[in-house]
This record gives sequence, C-alpha cells and structure tokens, in this order.
Amino acid sequence: MKKERLAFFRELLNERLRELREEAEKTVTGMTDGKDPFPDPTDRANLETDRNFELRIRDRERKLIAKIKEALARIEDETFGICEECGEDISEERLKARPVTTLCIDCKTKAEAEEKEKKKASLG
Ligand SMILES: [Zn+2]
Repeated sequence: MKKERLAFFRELLNERLRELREEAEKTVTGMTDGKDPFPDPTDRANLETDRNFELRIRDRERKLIAKIKEALARIEDETFGICEECGEDISEERLKARPVTTLCIDCKTKAEAEEKEKKKASLG
C-alpha cells in the first residue's frame, strides 16, 4: 500500500482509538461513583444488570483496542492491508469499513463458512 494511504488509515485508526478510550473512561467514572442512588432492591438489581452490560461492552472495547493497536503496528511495518491468509491486497472499501481486518473478503467468507461447518459438526 502507498505511504499516503497508510497515513490515511493511521489517522482513521487513531481516531477510533481516541473514541474508544473516551467511552471507556466514561464507563469507569460511572462505575466508581460510590453513591447508591437506588435504595430499592428492584432498582438495585437493574443497576447490577446495567453494570454487567457495561463490563461486557468494556471487554469488547478492550479487544477492539488491542486489534487497533495491532493494525497500527502493521501500518508501521507496512504489511497493513495485506491478507494474512492469501497475501493478496484487501480492498480499500473493506478496510475503510473495518480497518482492523487481517483477511480479504474471500478468505473471510471462507473462514466463516468453515466456522459454521465446525459448529454444525460439534452439534452432531
Ligand atoms: Zn485472502
């Protein structure tokens, strides 16, 4: 990939990283607020569910942040945008929609089909 395109995707990834970090900080602030605004046990149960939900989101965010960092590392060593399965270029349309991807659309489709087969097989 050309250097200008790499720079474009570096910007895009850094932007996503900033957004995710801001989101994560907001969640942390909400969770460490020591006050209990819901003395009613029913409301408290709802609050716990909300927190579990937030923790799941944060787990997903953490994974996404890790993926973005990997993508940024690939930009640095200029392997970004190359399918790790077949070595072909990944289309820019796909990279714009999902800049953390490491597979071209063909390999991704194949991987998903294999995944489905595996699930079917494990169900017996
Ligand atoms: Zn491929």
